[in-house]
Amino acid sequence: MIDPDTSSLLPQKHRAFLKRCLSIDLEVNPKTARIFAFAAVPFDQSRSIVSKGERIEAGFDRLEQALNGIEHPIGHNLLQHDMTHLLARRPRLARTIQAPIDTLWLNPLAFPRNPYHHLVKHYHDGRLQAGHLNDPELDAKLVFQVLANQLEAFDQLNRDTPDAVLAYHWLTTLGDLLPGFDAVFSHVRGIERPTQPEAFTAIRRLVRSKVCEKRLEQVLSRLDRANIGWSMAYALSWISVSGGDSVMPPWVRAKFKEASLILRHLRDTSCKDPNCKWCAEQNDPVAALQRWFGFDAFRPQPQDPSGHSLQERIVDEAMGGNSVLGILPTGTGKSVCYQIPALTKFDKTGALSVVISPLVALMSDQVQGMERAGISSSVTVNGMMSMPERQDALEKVRMGDASILIISPEQLRSTSIRTTLKQREIGLWVLDEAHCVSKWGMISGPTTAMSRVS
Ligand SMILES: [Zn+2]
Repeated sequence: MIDPDTSSLLPQKHRAFLKRCLSIDLEVNPKTARIFAFAAVPFDQSRSIVSKGERIEAGFDRLEQALNGIEHPIGHNLLQHDMTHLLARRPRLARTIQAPIDTLWLNPLAFPRNPYHHLVKHYHDGRLQAGHLNDPELDAKLVFQVLANQLEAFDQLNRDTPDAVLAYHWLTTLGDLLPGFDAVFSHVRGIERPTQPEAFTAIRRLVRSKVCEKRLEQVLSRLDRANIGWSMAYALSWISVSGGDSVMPPWVRAKFKEASLILRHLRDTSCKDPNCKWCAEQNDPVAALQRWFGFDAFRPQPQDPSGHSLQERIVDEAMGGNSVLGILPTGTGKSVCYQIPALTKFDKTGALSVVISPLVALMSDQVQGMERAGISSSVTVNGMMSMPERQDALEKVRMGDASILIISPEQLRSTSIRTTLKQREIGLWVLDEAHCVSKWGMISGPTTAMSRVS
C-alpha cells in the first residue's frame, strides 16, 4: 500500500501521473450482481469515498462528482468487472469515464517473468486480495501500489528494451483506442503513440531470431484488421522471457485466446522454407535431438515402410502437430519419441505435455533419465510420492517450470491435478504403454500415442 513513506520514494514524474488517477473497487454479490459496497480513493487518500449499505446511492453521487475532476479511473480488473457493474447501475457515467486504466491488463506486460511471483500475496484468480475480504478501501489503495510498481517496471524496460515499450504502446491502443493505456505508455516513454511503421520496425527487431520471419509478417499483416493488438503484446512479452519460468496467466489465455495461437504460429508452425533459419533450427527433429540429447542421428532401426528411422518419423510428425500412434518394440527408444516434441513445444510456446503411463515404477526412472541428460523440467506425480513431494511437483507445473508431467491414469481423477492443469496450456497428451489401454478396449503391442491439442 502506498503510505507517505513509500510514496516519497516514487519518482516525481510518477507521482504526478498517479495524482491524475482515482482508484475504484466495487464489492459485488456474485449471485445477484448487486453492488453492496465500494470505495474510490485518490492518490493522496484525502477525500476517499467509502460507501456501503443504505448510503450507497449517495456514495454514487459523490463518485460521479469525483470522476468529473479526474483523468483516469483505475482498478484491478476494472474494465471487465467494476466498470461493467458501475455502468449497469449508472449508465450516464460512460460519458465521464473516458480513459480508464486496468492494472490487471498491464501486469503480464510489466512482469512477464511469471506473474505469480510478483504481487503473489495479492493474487487470487486475477483479483487483488489485500488480505481482508470485503475491504474495498484497502483494495483500492493497493491498486495505486500495483500501478506504481508497473510504471517503474515499464521505466526500466524502456531503458533496457525501448522497442518493447514502443511495441506495447502501439499494440495496446489498436482498434478500440483505449486512451487510458495510451496515457500510461506516453507517460513512460515521454512521447506520443508511435506510427504503424515505427511499431513494425520495433517488433521485427524485438523478435529477430526468436520467431519464424515469414510467420511474423503474416501476423503483422493481420494486426490492424483482427483486433488482436493485446494478444500480440502478450505473445511478445512471453517471448521476451521464453525459456525462463514464465506462464501466460490463465485469464490471459481465456480472454485473449489469440495470444497463444499467435505464439504457436510464430514459433511452432514450420514455414517449410529450408532457408528460414528459425524453422530449420527449431522445427527440425535432428537438430532438436542434437540439442536436447547430444546425438547426431535417430536410431536407424526400427524403420518405417519407406526405410526411414521410425523414431525420427514419429518425432517429425508430432513436431508438425499431427496425432501419432507409434508402435515400437520394447527398448528401442520410445521415450525420445515424445520427449523431443514435448521439450521443443515447451521451449517454443511454454506448453506442458502430459504423459499418462500405467507403470508407476518406471516414472521416476524416466524423470531421472532426463535429469542425466541435463533436463530438469520433467516431473512426475504418482501415488508413491509423499505429500510434500507431490506439492513440490504440482508447484513446478503451476509456475511453468515443468515441460513434461508424467502421471498414472487414476491421477486424472484428482482435483489438485485437474486444478493444476488448468493453469497451463497443454501442448501434447501422450499415452505411454498405450497397449495397456486395452483395458479400455483399444489396441495391443508396445505403443506410444500422441495427440496434439488444438
Ligand atoms: Zn520459418
